[in-house]
Amino acid sequence: MPFFVCVTCGTQFQETTAPPATCPICEDERQYVGLQGQQWTTLEQLSHTHRSVIRLEEAGLYGISLEPSFAIGQRALLITRPEGNLLWDCVPLIDDGLVQLIRGIGGISAIAISHPHYYTSMVEWSRVFDCPIYLHEADRKWVMRDHAAIDFWSGDSKTLGPGLTLIRCGGHFDGGTVLHWSEGGSGAGALLTGDIIQVVQDRRWVSFMYSYPNYIPLSAASVGNVTAAVEPFAYERIYGAFWGKIVSTDAKAAVRRSADRYIQALQS
Ligand SMILES: [Zn+2]
Ligand SMILES: [Zn+2]
Repeated sequence: MPFFVCVTCGTQFQETTAPPATCPICEDERQYVGLQGQQWTTLEQLSHTHRSVIRLEEAGLYGISLEPSFAIGQRALLITRPEGNLLWDCVPLIDDGLVQLIRGIGGISAIAISHPHYYTSMVEWSRVFDCPIYLHEADRKWVMRDHAAIDFWSGDSKTLGPGLTLIRCGGHFDGGTVLHWSEGGSGAGALLTGDIIQVVQDRRWVSFMYSYPNYIPLSAASVGNVTAAVEPFAYERIYGAFWGKIVSTDAKAAVRRSADRYIQALQS
């Protein structure tokens, strides 16, 4: 039986004989159903039309995505380190060439994901590399393919080894999580933020939304919670969810001034 994949969000579902009736992630007001209505594919079909790409972002950090772009179009990030590599966020396609390449640079010891829009085919990745998946328990109901490898963590933060900390920010999703990588940003510290702190077109700034495609903002209190959660951490750089969406320097100040601008706009 196939594991169907939603074409609009890239989420892989439990094994079923027929495609699911709907995609709850796309029916949610933070996403949308495409112009053609609900469409499904499989990883097998996807492997004929798309390929994996992997590129170096900085020493010890690789970006991974699909070409041509598929579904939401995010790029995942792979942190490589002697203690074991960490995949941050995920993409639907996992092909043999990419698997061999990643094995050549140490495989994957753990997967952590910012929020449900990037769960995609996380279980396939976990099975191939035999590693756990760390998700915040507040978003448990959005898991469409459950698996014993999923470790639902709770609370405000979780350490994944020296210098790697998951920080629960909330905001875009209740369990919205960012990753602090102390050795990133060329040693000055980096945040990997997915959609939770979104790097915008002007890459000196970030933003925060309940829904990006439907332009639904967050409340001032919620933006305050996101920024308060990351305030204790030292970082110079932010890697957002997409290629090129990087605040290269002075990122901590960028988060502060972006939150101030956002809250001021809401309250004026
Ligand atoms: Zn979907
Ligand atoms: Zn999202």
